[in-house]
Amino acid sequence: MQTETHETTGVVGFDLTPSGEMCEGKLTFADGILRAEIDGKEVFARSVDDARELKQFTDIGCGTLELALKGADGIEPDDSENLFVCRFTMAAVNDIAELCKVVNYYIETGHEGRVMHLEKSRCPKCGRPLIAGLEVCIFCVDKSYIWRRLFKLMRPYLKPLIASSLVLILSGIMMAMAPVLNGILTDHYLAPSEDAKPYFSNPAVGVLVIAGLLIGARALGEFFSIVSVRIANKIGSRFSHELRCEAYDKVQKLSMSSMSKKTSGDLMKRISSDTQTIRQFIVDQGRFMIEQSVMFVIIAIVLLVTNPLLTLFVFLPVPLALLFISRFFKYIHFRYEKQWRLDSRSNSILHDIIKGIRVVKTFGNEEREIEKFSNAREKLAKVSMSNERFWAEVFPVLNFFVGIGEFFVLYFGGRMVLNGTMSLGELIQFVLFLSYIYQPLRWMTSIPRWLANMVTSLVKLFEIFDEKPEIDDVQNPVEPELKGGITFENVKFGYKSYEPVLKNVSLEIRPGEMIGLVGHSGAGKSTMINMVMRLYDPNSGAIRLDGVDLREISQKTLHENIGVVFQETFLFTGSVYENIRYAKADATVEEVVAAAKAANAHEFIIKLPDGYNTILGENGHTLSGGERQRLAIARAVLRNPKILILDEATSALDPETEAKIQEALGRLVENRTTIAIAHRLSTLRHADRLVVIEKGQIAEVGTHKELLEQRGIYYRLVMAQKQTNKLHTEA
Ligand code: ADP
Repeated sequence: MQTETHETTGVVGFDLTPSGEMCEGKLTFADGILRAEIDGKEVFARSVDDARELKQFTDIGCGTLELALKGADGIEPDDSENLFVCRFTMAAVNDIAELCKVVNYYIETGHEGRVMHLEKSRCPKCGRPLIAGLEVCIFCVDKSYIWRRLFKLMRPYLKPLIASSLVLILSGIMMAMAPVLNGILTDHYLAPSEDAKPYFSNPAVGVLVIAGLLIGARALGEFFSIVSVRIANKIGSRFSHELRCEAYDKVQKLSMSSMSKKTSGDLMKRISSDTQTIRQFIVDQGRFMIEQSVMFVIIAIVLLVTNPLLTLFVFLPVPLALLFISRFFKYIHFRYEKQWRLDSRSNSILHDIIKGIRVVKTFGNEEREIEKFSNAREKLAKVSMSNERFWAEVFPVLNFFVGIGEFFVLYFGGRMVLNGTMSLGELIQFVLFLSYIYQPLRWMTSIPRWLANMVTSLVKLFEIFDEKPEIDDVQNPVEPELKGGITFENVKFGYKSYEPVLKNVSLEIRPGEMIGLVGHSGAGKSTMINMVMRLYDPNSGAIRLDGVDLREISQKTLHENIGVVFQETFLFTGSVYENIRYAKADATVEEVVAAAKAANAHEFIIKLPDGYNTILGENGHTLSGGERQRLAIARAVLRNPKILILDEATSALDPETEAKIQEALGRLVENRTTIAIAHRLSTLRHADRLVVIEKGQIAEVGTHKELLEQRGIYYRLVMAQKQTNKLHTEA
């Protein structure tokens, strides 16, 4: 299957009009046509077929984008003939540079290449910076879709959620008995009117019974509240557990290219705190929302029945509060998004420092790193403080407006009592009910705050859920019995397809052959082995195993047949035994020991404090580089793959250890197809063939001897290395 995609697209934002005023501009490149729009109106549209280059010229604070055309025959083109495309500030410079690369690649290669991900840092629609690692803008995302999707996910939990809310409503009704009982107490016993008909002739008994009822209602109210919280907690925990597992599952399957765009701190935040925000919504806000709305309606009806005129005064400030909330929503959203962004940044700094603590320490850069982190935290603290201050100032004002109704009720209600058109008990009941009406209103004022948090978390989580694995099995993948033949067939590949790394690589590797890949650093050696492992698919061309396209083979079969020994061996927290067995979950003890012996690792393992049971990993025993490598070899032996990949497996070791590793590797590569990369060319001397990669292309192929005789790149590399070694020995 040879695929060549001709879909070259890209959309980025720019922000200045030709005369230098701020605007919302959009640059689009699709099907060979470059378009610029300002505030929705097209200002430039042209095919780039007769163009020489899309050029960016930057000045102080702003830049211009120009399309340079090919000169007429025999005339040297010059930039004064360029076509003006758009102007932009430095905020858009990176995105525009990226688009230039896309367009220029298209011009250069003649309609070839595919933009997998045009890295954008700003939303092309609204121009706001995107949250790092997020492809969608949380301002422009369709929010109703986000909510609909959440409710769809929550469908299995809807019944218990409604049950929990109903119980909470019961609790609310019980609590709302207090104003009613207070009204009865006043009108019937404390200040009875002449036509009052008390239930008990002895007022003392009446007071006692009402007090008892009050306590009873309160106790029942609290009981229902406990039941409701318990149900909600159960659903919340189960739902967030499910989300977390799904997110974790997805993260495991993310392709390398999307993984490399996200920091591990960001991914961890998505799995842990974003799911926690959603849990919080179900346990608290969601439940309250239902309860408060229902209570609001019930009490509004009770009030209307009791005294319609007075009820009107209660609701007088409501439109004002709603207007206020809707006007502030966008502003608040923006403030919280900024806080989130800074929080995410300081977390990734922390994560990087902890991960690279050895490097920080060796360079003695602790102070600098502390300062960097504390600067980030300080910025965050400033924004959070300003946000909190904003709330602390706005909230009381809002509360005041909402509470104005209380003043009306007391004033007009008081006058009605004095006129005798309303009883004292009714007024007391009314005033006490007010808090039940204003509570949901006050609570509504905090909606923008948690809604903003919730939408951000949901968007981030859904983005993970929606991520389509770029590398996936086809419908009916084949599971062939592999012999180990590998073919590169006109393979072209770039991590960004418009920046090619491998350019038309063709190579045939026979089953059982050992190939050494050599070349300057950055030439594309690791990229080639990444592609054999199918961490990435070619942009065009194909890689075949025994004649079958890698994309047709099930990933399970592929992984079972490929073993790798990297320079950096990752050891999990666990025993030596478990770490070796990681390569084959059902291996027996005998198999593990045999693999360790074949890897020349058994000897040092039995000398460890607990032998095979010694715990390794972050808080466990630390192994030397050579020991780690031998464990990696033991893993590969245990896996017994048809294809073996060795990436810089022997470097920087003492001669004795290296001899042991070479011996173990010698055993390992027997009867397997091996592709090896090594810095030290001497270790590849025994390879059947050496393949020299130069700038993404195969430059030389042959045995060590043949290539030395050719006196080409390989010869020069060997000579350079000899020279360095000599210098080292002399030193
Ligand atoms: P080598 O192994 O020969 O040193 P690599 O295959 O690692 O070279 O890299 C080839 C080119 O690809 C380099 O320019 C490198 O910067 C780029 N590259 C490697 N890995 C990535 C990646 N994950 N994302 C983007 N570019 C990459």
